[in-house]
Amino acid sequence: MTQITPQPGIMDIALYESGAAHVDGISNVVKLSSNENPFGPSDQAREAYAKAGYDLHRYPSSDHGALRRALAAHHGLDTDRIICGAGSDEIIAFLCQAYAGPGTEVIHTEHGFAMYKISALAAGATPVEVPERERVTDVDAILAACTDATRLVFLANPNNPTGTMIGDGEVARLAEALPPHVLLVLDGAYAEYVEGYDGGAGLVDARQNVVMTRTFSKLYGLGGLRVGWGYGPKHVIDVLNRVRGPFNLATPALAAAEAALRDTAWTEKCRNENSRLRAWLAEALAEHGVPSDTSTANFILARFASPDQARACDAHLQSQGLIVRQVAGYNLPHCLRITVGDEPSCRRVAHAIGQFMGDAE
Ligand SMILES: *Cc1c(COP(=O)(O)O)cnc(C)c1O
Repeated sequence: MTQITPQPGIMDIALYESGAAHVDGISNVVKLSSNENPFGPSDQAREAYAKAGYDLHRYPSSDHGALRRALAAHHGLDTDRIICGAGSDEIIAFLCQAYAGPGTEVIHTEHGFAMYKISALAAGATPVEVPERERVTDVDAILAACTDATRLVFLANPNNPTGTMIGDGEVARLAEALPPHVLLVLDGAYAEYVEGYDGGAGLVDARQNVVMTRTFSKLYGLGGLRVGWGYGPKHVIDVLNRVRGPFNLATPALAAAEAALRDTAWTEKCRNENSRLRAWLAEALAEHGVPSDTSTANFILARFASPDQARACDAHLQSQGLIVRQVAGYNLPHCLRITVGDEPSCRRVAHAIGQFMGDAE
C-alpha cells in the first residue's frame, strides 16, 4: 500500500471543465462555449507568430521587456509594475501561491470564475464563497465575509459567467474598506469590451492593496497562445516575480501578443461587432421568452424557467451543431452561457432557441 499522498486540499479540487468543441456526428459545429473571439486574432499577430518560428532554438525573453513596454505605452501604465503570465490563470495561481496557504482564506463570489477556487485549493488555502445579489457582486457581503484569515479577494469585473459588472465607486469602496492584510484582485479578462473602462488600473495606481489581471485570450483572440498579465503595486509585483518561472512565456506568444496590441483597428472592429451582436442576441432571446442580465462582456447568460428547461435547450442547440456552456457548476443550473459569435452564428442560436421555446409552449 502506497503512502504517497498529495498536500491537503489537492484532492478537493474538482477538475476544470473546459468548453466542449465537438458534437458526435455533426461536422458543421459552432463553438460558443469558451468566450473566444469569433473573428480570431489580428493578421499582424499571426504574422509575428509565424516569424518567431525562425528563432525557436533561442530561449525566450525572461523579463518580457518588449511586451511590458508595449502594454505600458498602450494603457498608460508603469512598465516596472507589469508582470506577464501563461494566461491570466497563471497570475491567479502566482497570487494564491504567494499570498495564500494552509490556514488562510480566499474569497470569491457565488458565481465567480472557477480558477479562483482551484488555485486557492492548490495552494492549501480555504476558498470562501460569498453570495451575490441577483447575479451582481455584493460589496457588503464580501466585506462581511472577511476574517483575520482572509488574504485574497478575487473579483471579476465584468464577471464570468454572469456578464454583469459593478461601478468604479463600488470597487473603490471595497478596496478602501478591506482589512489591511487583504489584497484585492480585480480580474479584467473582459475589461477591453467595456468602452472607457481601465479595468481598475487607476485604483491600482492609487493604492497598495489592489492588483489587476488581464488577458490576450478574449478580445485579442489569442486563447491558444496563453498570454496574460498583471498590474500591481511594486511590493506585489516583486513578490510575484519570485514565484514566476524565468521562461514562463514562449517567444511566439510574446511576439504575437505585442503585435496584437498594436493593431488597434482590429480590436476596435471586434469590440464594435461584439456590442452590436450582443444587443441583437439578447433582444432576440428576450422576444422568445428567454431573458438575460445586461452583459458588458462577449457572452450573455440566458435564463430559463428551470434547470430542466436549460438542459433541454442545451440538448436542442447541440442537435443543431451549436455548443454553448452549461453553468450548473457556477450555481446557475437554470442558465446557459452563450458566447457572442459572428452574425451567422448569432442568427442560428436565436433561431434554434426560438424553435425550442415554440415547441415548449
Ligand atoms: C477567460 C477568463 C480568464 C482568463 O484566462 P486566461 O488564462 O488568460 O486565458 C480569467 N478570468 C476570467 C473571469 C475569465 O473568464
